[in-house]
Amino acid sequence: RPTVGVLALQGDVREHVAALTAAGARAVLVRRTTELEDVDALVLPGGESTTIEKLLRAFGMFAPVQGAVAAGMPALGSCAGMILLADRVLDATADQRTLGGLDITVRRNAFGRQVDSFEEDLHAPALGAGPGADPLHAVFIRAPWVEETGPDVEVLARTVAGTDADEHEAAGRIVAVRQGRLLATAFHPEIGHDPRVHAVFVDMVRDAQA
Ligand code: GLN
Repeated sequence: RPTVGVLALQGDVREHVAALTAAGARAVLVRRTTELEDVDALVLPGGESTTIEKLLRAFGMFAPVQGAVAAGMPALGSCAGMILLADRVLDATADQRTLGGLDITVRRNAFGRQVDSFEEDLHAPALGAGPGADPLHAVFIRAPWVEETGPDVEVLARTVAGTDADEHEAAGRIVAVRQGRLLATAFHPEIGHDPRVHAVFVDMVRDAQA
């Protein structure tokens, strides 16, 4: 069983622990740099990307986590975690920096300009939600979307219909990506008791160990 750390500075940590456990991993909390050495992979939870960044700096963890990801530690980021893994952020705060690693440009609070929160059923074969399987029920909370992807980035899911109010703007947006050992979703797979995204991630962790 791979050991997967959940960065536990801010955000929906417990939900990720539950989803990882359901997906067959041993989940542990990571609150300090030394704890990074005990994990095979790291989850960056949903929450508030600027707050998580500030806490990473306050605890001297920004460079170590950045280094671990750059050195090939598998990582899963949801929502704020996706922003933290993105190389470029639009609508960021003035001094916002990210850990980076994913060659993507995300727009922060992109869906949130229209509506704070919505849910949608996504078609995503690479996440176990292909033909013949149930769609992935995705929960979006002031979520970013991905505006640009580099050549090595695989697009795993896009929004379908968007929301009623701004169906057009929000439709067809990239909301799940993978690049090497990094997986990120604009929505919250840790909310809603569907472990398929975490199962894909745990498989990635096993492949990285093999
Ligand atoms: N809007 C938040 C941010 O910018 C992300 C929201 C979330 O993680 N649900 O970090």
